[in-house]
Amino acid sequence: MYRATVSLAENLNSIQQRISIACQRAGREPTSVGLLAVAKTHPPEAVSAAANLGLSLFGENKVQEARAKIPLCPGRLRWHFIGHLQSNKCREAVELFAMIESVDSLALAQEINRRAEAAAKTMPILLEVNVAGEASKFGYQPERLLAELKAINALPRIEIHGLMAVPPWSPLPENSRPHFRRLRELKLQCEQILAAPMPHLSMGMSGDFEVAIEEGATIVRVGTALFGKRTSVRANPVAE
Ligand SMILES: *Cc1c(COP(=O)(O)O)cnc(C)c1O
Repeated sequence: MYRATVSLAENLNSIQQRISIACQRAGREPTSVGLLAVAKTHPPEAVSAAANLGLSLFGENKVQEARAKIPLCPGRLRWHFIGHLQSNKCREAVELFAMIESVDSLALAQEINRRAEAAAKTMPILLEVNVAGEASKFGYQPERLLAELKAINALPRIEIHGLMAVPPWSPLPENSRPHFRRLRELKLQCEQILAAPMPHLSMGMSGDFEVAIEEGATIVRVGTALFGKRTSVRANPVAE
C-alpha cells in the first residue's frame, strides 16, 4: 500500500474544505471548481491512492514523465498537460492528455492541430498567459494572445476552453489576486473577440487557490498541499 495514504486523505479533506469555504465566500457552487491533482515527481502509487479517494483529474508538466507514469495509473483518469510543450512532443501529448493547458503560441497550436488531425481527435486547450510579464516564464503576452486568438480558434482540431496562468511565486496569497483578476478580465476580452464563451480559468496552486477561487478559477492545480513536498530534483526546473 502506498504509505502516504492516510495523510493523503487528510490533505484532500482539508483542501476540499478550503475550496468549499472559498466558494461560500465568493457565492459560488463548490462543484464549479475542479481540483486538478498535480502528480509531477510523484509515483503511480500516489496517483492510484488519490484516485481511490475519488479524484479523477490529474496534471503532469513533462511529457517524458507522463509517458512512463500514465500507463501505470488507473485507466479512467483524465490528464491535463500543464508544462512547457515542445513541438517535437506534441504527437505524444495529444495521445496522452485530455487537455493541454499550456499553449502559448500560434505555431504550437498549429502543431497540436496537425497531430490531432493525424490521430483523428479534437484537442481541448487552454491558452497560457504570462500575466506578470516575467522574463523567466513561458506564456503569452496578453497583446499577442489577443492578436493570435482568431487564428488559433480557426484551427479545426483545436477547441479553446479558456485561459491558464502561473503568477509570480509569493508567500502571500493576496499578491496573486491582481494577476488572477487580470486573467479573468482577459478571458472576457477573448470571449468578446470570439463571440463565444470560454468555460475555464485554470489558476491557483497550493499557496493561493482560495484567492483564485474568489477571482473565478474553475480549475485549481494543487500538488504540494495534496501529495506533500516534492523531493526530486525535477521538482524545481529553472523554467517553472
Ligand atoms: C507544479 C505545478 C503546480 C502545483 O504547484 P503546488 O504549489 O505544488 O501546488 C501547478 N501548476 C503548474 C503549472 C505546476 O507546474
